[in-house]
Amino acid sequence: MNAAGRFARYLSTNRLKMTRTRRAILEEILAIRGHFTADDLLAHFRRRGRDVAPATLYRTLARLVEAGLVHRIDMAKGQARYEPMFGRHHHDHMICVSCGKIIEFENRTIERIQADVCRRKRFTLVEHTHQLRGHCAQCSQNGTPAARPRGAS
Ligand SMILES: [Zn+2]
Ligand SMILES: [Zn+2]
Ligand SMILES: [Zn+2]
Repeated sequence: MNAAGRFARYLSTNRLKMTRTRRAILEEILAIRGHFTADDLLAHFRRRGRDVAPATLYRTLARLVEAGLVHRIDMAKGQARYEPMFGRHHHDHMICVSCGKIIEFENRTIERIQADVCRRKRFTLVEHTHQLRGHCAQCSQNGTPAARPRGAS
């Protein structure tokens, strides 16, 4: 099933309709690469001359997350970044709490162990996210105060 089909199915289970605006937002978002904030998204729409009310845009974004088409990455202080995941290869994220950099990674061993753990608990895994928080190589090197190990002065 394509992305529009999946979104339409999600909407109908929630007694909502696929409107032209929702469809346009979906298509525009799926074409974006990288990890963006809701504000970035609004700026992106404005730059492209798309006249969408912020409330509509944010609500549609939240629905795309619920529908599993967009991934939400939780940053520090309640901020979030989004990434279209439909048709993309699975990967997980490391988040630098100093500079906000997001590093993508993929580890077959982790994925395999995870599947194993679920199998043993007879748990049917639908999806997962790994969000590792810490300090990127650059921030650790620059000695960002928060990046220094506790107890070191
Ligand atoms: Zn994974
Ligand atoms: Zn960093
Ligand atoms: Zn990513």
